Amino acid sequence: MALLPAAGHADRPRNSFPDIARDFVFVALVVFAAALAGSLSRPVGFLAVFWPANALLAGLLLRQPRLRTFANVAAAALGYLAAGAVMGDATQDGVLMTAANLVGALVLILFFAALPETDRRLERPLSVAALVLVSLAGSAAAGIVGGVAFVRIADNTYLDGWWRWLASEMVNYLALLPPLLTVPAPDRWLRRRPRSAELKLWLPPVLVAVAAIGASPFLPSSLAVVAAVPALVWCALVLPLPGTALLVLVYSGAAMLGIKLGIYDFGFEPPLSDDTIAMAHLGVALVALGPILVASASADRRRRLDHLERLTRLDSLTEALTRRAFEQAGAGLIAQQRQTGAPVAVLLCDADHFKAINDLHGHAAGDRALTALAAAIRTAIRQDDIVGRLGGEEFALVLADTTRREAEVVAERIRRAIGRLEIVLDGGEVLTLTVSIGVCFAHSSSFDLADMVSRADHAMYEAKRLGRNRVVIGAS
Ligand code: GH3
Ligand code: MG
Ligand code: MG
Repeated sequence: MALLPAAGHADRPRNSFPDIARDFVFVALVVFAAALAGSLSRPVGFLAVFWPANALLAGLLLRQPRLRTFANVAAAALGYLAAGAVMGDATQDGVLMTAANLVGALVLILFFAALPETDRRLERPLSVAALVLVSLAGSAAAGIVGGVAFVRIADNTYLDGWWRWLASEMVNYLALLPPLLTVPAPDRWLRRRPRSAELKLWLPPVLVAVAAIGASPFLPSSLAVVAAVPALVWCALVLPLPGTALLVLVYSGAAMLGIKLGIYDFGFEPPLSDDTIAMAHLGVALVALGPILVASASADRRRRLDHLERLTRLDSLTEALTRRAFEQAGAGLIAQQRQTGAPVAVLLCDADHFKAINDLHGHAAGDRALTALAAAIRTAIRQDDIVGRLGGEEFALVLADTTRREAEVVAERIRRAIGRLEIVLDGGEVLTLTVSIGVCFAHSSSFDLADMVSRADHAMYEAKRLGRNRVVIGAS
């Protein structure tokens, strides 16, 4: 049974028993391992320095809507209890703390899952405000239960316990959720390898940030905790959001550990009280939000610029490049081919008797035919080939590393693919269309794009003259 709606996710339904069992074991193991790691990090004091289990559970369930089931909540509970048992937590305390952990994570998931995808991926500055508020809600809810555990274990007032639980929970959410929500799944980042220009841009701020984090324990105490922040803001301006989120996690993790172990000297007499540590940790988490906010604002700006660029470069009806963008991209590709001496081909593709289609079926049907035609061209070529709409029902292509023979094969493939299109109109009528294609092929350094388009155009007119629905190879 689903705990929450699997908002807009195209997951394959996984309802079979082995799938449910596998998810159950997976969630239980993740929570168990994270809770055990957290428990091992509390050599001093009652609260762990680092408690990744709740944020990990929340991140997992937010990223994978199919995991949001009651069975997996039970799996998480089992994971917490088992880790508590291994660490020798008294049973009743273990149950109370498990309840606090679960309540916090579930409240956070409930609120966060209701936000739009953009905010769940922290892709605009306001999403960071949402992250703070939702973490606060989850942490405050966890504190309601956790406060009881505090009263039992640490002889505090309930309000004191609630506040301490809230603060330490908040620190973990603020530090861990940004990378957990933004780092792409491994198959996505393995597929998209960064270009060398990007690496050159990313490397300096990353090196400076890592150096500043590494050097901070040796700096004067007033500088130590914040020394890396300017470099992290620099990272936020140039790196993709997940990269900054990971570096910020390294920074805040190191700073919190340094505070807990007394490496950063704040002028307090050691041993530091749990309260002092909790407040210093919260301070680090809040400082760390600065670079996250900047990264989120730059991601937002980059996305808007990409969208604008798409709008100016792509024809809105067919999503082929506009004439100007085609001329730019095509000239670039031909120049590149010229340098390496690789063969290049230009195709000109014009729909046959298209005016008649408009006259017979209306302009809207003509538009649909053009969209289908452009899509058919795209499926017949490689991703790096360039397609532009030169005007009306006329498209041009630049194919890199393409011999005369290959160009002919591609042109024929396009002609046949378009000939096979069946566009079903609103009235049920089926529209078909054909194209005439002119091919120009070049293997010498003397050609430029305008030359080649003009030759392909001549060949295309020859195809029209010979009766249309055919490919003509121009003289090279
Ligand atoms: P040919 O086989 O000689 O190429 O004949 P044709 O009718 O395709 O050639 P012509 O150049 O005379 O007509 C092109 C037509 O394409 C005219 C115009 O109405 C139509 N057209 C151009 N752009 C669009 C568009 O964006 N949408 C629609 N629906 N029609 C368009
Ligand atoms: Mg035409
Ligand atoms: Mg035409």
